[in-house]
Amino acid sequence: MAAHHQARPLKPGSPRPAKQLCSDCGLCDTSYIHYVKDACAFLHQQFDTLETQTHGRKRSIHQEDECYFGVHQTMMAARKKQPIPGAQWTGIVTTIATKMLNAGWVEAVVCVQNTPQDRFQPQIVLARTPAEILAARVNKPTLSPNLNLLDEIERSGLKRLLVIGVGCQIQALRAVEKHLGLEKLYVLGTPCVDNVNRAGLQKFLETTSRSPETVVHYEFMQDYQVHFKHEDDSVEKVPFFGLNTRELKDIFAPSCLSCFDYVNGLADLVVGYMGAPFGWQWLVVRNERGQAMLDLVGNELETQPVMSQGQRHQAVQQSIPAYDQGVTLPMWAARLMGVVIEKFGPKGLEYARFSIDSHFTRNYLYVQRNYPHKLARHVPEFAKKIVSQYRLPKD
Ligand code: FAD
Ligand code: SF4
Repeated sequence: MAAHHQARPLKPGSPRPAKQLCSDCGLCDTSYIHYVKDACAFLHQQFDTLETQTHGRKRSIHQEDECYFGVHQTMMAARKKQPIPGAQWTGIVTTIATKMLNAGWVEAVVCVQNTPQDRFQPQIVLARTPAEILAARVNKPTLSPNLNLLDEIERSGLKRLLVIGVGCQIQALRAVEKHLGLEKLYVLGTPCVDNVNRAGLQKFLETTSRSPETVVHYEFMQDYQVHFKHEDDSVEKVPFFGLNTRELKDIFAPSCLSCFDYVNGLADLVVGYMGAPFGWQWLVVRNERGQAMLDLVGNELETQPVMSQGQRHQAVQQSIPAYDQGVTLPMWAARLMGVVIEKFGPKGLEYARFSIDSHFTRNYLYVQRNYPHKLARHVPEFAKKIVSQYRLPKD
């Protein structure tokens, strides 16, 4: 283990080294803040180095699937034969984590429960029992300091650990991994985009849902609608194109508006949904560790190959000025547009590319306008290549 240099953690609420761009990943709540200049995803973009460290090579930007989805061995669509009630989708993440613990592959799992007072307020736990992992199921759709347990991990003397997390957390984790004293680290990632702080989440729920206080989870689905699930199990659907973009533009965290790691390129295995048909989850196996994690739950999954259908380019190009100017369609037009796009629009991997293109163009513009001095260094080569397919508005 490389010696761990310590520094004093920051107090809650105090300014962070990345200032506005901080995603509250948790690193600076620990003595590992010593490494922040190198480790913070928003201060030091280093995908090439960390991909090589983790997967043995960086992604090829000349191969389209790799440029978009990162280094991988395989991708597939999957769902649990018996879904876990209350999970975000079918509970593949919870199942893999539980199996790894039960099989003795790891001694503990870093995952995100909620506080007793608030179902959406993250509470990070070092789970050592299946019940603690199960209690962490379902997204807490807010910025979450998953790394705030790094000192506890080191103190506990753990040797084998699974961390569940989103891209910015995993970038910082990979940068300090060698200082943690672990013999084996597994990383189970999810994609992540458009995250918000707790106040931003409240504004989103209040602007968009008919009953904000009863929402138990929501997802931006592949049918171009937000699905809100309520306490009584009813599902409320609101078309993307009807969202009040002018009101909502400011709620996304600046970190997420400058992030290009939608697909969590440094995890061993990624479990999302956006590259899969509606109702299925999308799995990206990045390396041997990821394949072994997936094999452990293979007999509990139904799988099918990934598919790709449609053409995203025109839809993305049209969405760029619409988003930029904060256009909101009347609800009837939004529903109609949703129906038409769902019937003829991009599906499977092409939907994932549609979503990546829309977010990367928006985020590129955001960095260009707000952090012009960071643009060249912060935006990775793969994202520059993706953005270069589109005409961006001139300021
Ligand atoms: P479950 O078995 O329900 O487990 C969910 C796991 O997520 C838990 O173990 C918990 O520890 C962890 N978790 C919960 N909240 C957070 C958080 N805030 N930060 C880090 N970890 C957390 N997939 C896409 O394809 N496209 C997207 O745009 C997308 N956006 C996402 C945004 C966020 C903030 C999160 C957390 C996930 C997002 N995902 C996205 C992933 C997707 O929503 C599901 O989480 C994933 O498919 C796993 O579903 P599951 O049923 O297997 O998870
Ligand atoms: Fe620190 Fe993480 Fe915020 Fe960067 S994103 S300043 S590493 S807490």
